Amino acid sequence: MTARILDGLKIRDQIFAELSDEVRLLTAAGVRPGLAAVLVGENPASQLYVKSKIAACEQLGLASALITPSASVGTLEMLAVVEDLNRDNNIDGILVQLPLPPQVDTKRILEAVDPAKDVDGFHPVNLGRLVSGRPGLVACTPAGCMEILRRNSIPIEGANAVVLGRSDIVGKPMALLLMHANATVTICHSKTRDLPDVLRRADIIVAAMGKAGYVEAGWIKPAAAGKPGTAVIDVGTNRVTDPKEAERLFKNFPDRLEKFRTKGNALVGDVHPDALNTAGYLTPVPGGVGPMTITMLMSNTVKAARLRRASPRFSATQSTANAR
Ligand code: NAP
Repeated sequence: MTARILDGLKIRDQIFAELSDEVRLLTAAGVRPGLAAVLVGENPASQLYVKSKIAACEQLGLASALITPSASVGTLEMLAVVEDLNRDNNIDGILVQLPLPPQVDTKRILEAVDPAKDVDGFHPVNLGRLVSGRPGLVACTPAGCMEILRRNSIPIEGANAVVLGRSDIVGKPMALLLMHANATVTICHSKTRDLPDVLRRADIIVAAMGKAGYVEAGWIKPAAAGKPGTAVIDVGTNRVTDPKEAERLFKNFPDRLEKFRTKGNALVGDVHPDALNTAGYLTPVPGGVGPMTITMLMSNTVKAARLRRASPRFSATQSTANAR
C-alpha cells in the first residue's frame, strides 16, 4: 500500500483563497492588515525567506514593510526598531527574521515584540496562552501541521500522537496543539529510549528533529484490519549533499537519486522516503509542511489585524493619535 500524500501546496492554495476574501472584506471596511519584516544583514537564506514572505503579502493584498538594519546593529538599536513597529498602528504583525547576529540578544528582541503583533507566536505571552488553551497567536509551523491534519480529516481526538523533538518553535507548541485537540501525546527527544517501539504505537507522528531520513519505514504502523496506517507529518528540512547518504535515502527512488546526482544536493525530511510504502498518510518533503509555514504567517497577520483593531486598546491609541 502506498501512503496518501498530504499535499501542503494544495492546502496553502485553499487557505490563501480564504484569506484573500477576508483581506478584501477588511480592506473594504478600512482595515488593510500590514506585516513588517525586520531583516538584519545579508544572510542569503534569510533574504530568500523574507522575500517569499513579502511576495505572499503582495499576493494576498496585505501591506508590507521591510526594515533592514546593518549586520553590525546592536541590541539597543534593535529594541528601538521593534518599539517603533509596536507603536505603528498600520503594522499588525512584526516578523524578526532569525538568526540575528551574535552581538544581538535574540531573546530580548523577541520578548520586546508586542504580543498582539507577534505573528511568529514566539512571545512567552502567546506561549502561555497556548499552554492554558486561550486564544492567541500560535507558532506557524505547528499551526500549519494542524491544518494539514484537519483539512485531510485525519482523526485527532483519542489518537496516539508522537511528537519527535521538543524545541520551543516546533515540538513543544505542536504537542500542546495536539493535546488540546484531545490526542494522547508522547513527546520524544534525544534521550528517549527505544524510539522505534514508541513510534510503532502511534496513529500520528510529527517528526521535527533535523536528522535526514532518521525515522525508518519499519518503525511506522502500516494499515491493518481496515484501519489506516499512521499519519506522518514530516517537518524536517535537511539538505543532503553526501552521495552515500543520498544512496541510503533514495535507493528505492531512482528518479530522486538521479536528480541528486545532477544537482549535487537534495532536500529530505526526518522520515526515510521508504515510509511511502508503510505510512497511511505522508507529507512530502519538499511540498508538505514547508509551504504551510508562510501560509500560517499570513493567516496570523490577518488574525492579528482583526483582533488588535477590535480591541479597546487600539481605539484608545487611535483617539490619542487623532488628538495630536
Ligand atoms: P531543534 O531546535 O534542533 O530541535 C530538534 C529536536 O529534535 C530536539 O528537541 C532534539 O532533542 C530532538 N532530537 C534530536 N535527535 C533525536 C533523536 N535521535 N531522537 C529523538 N529526538 C531527537 O530543531 P527545530 O527548530 O525544532 O527543527 C526541527 C526540524 O524541522 C529541522 O529540520 C528544521 O529545519 C525543520 N523545520 C522546518 C520548518 C518548515 O517550515 N518546514 C520550520 C521549522 C523547522 P533534545 O531536545 O534532547 O536535544
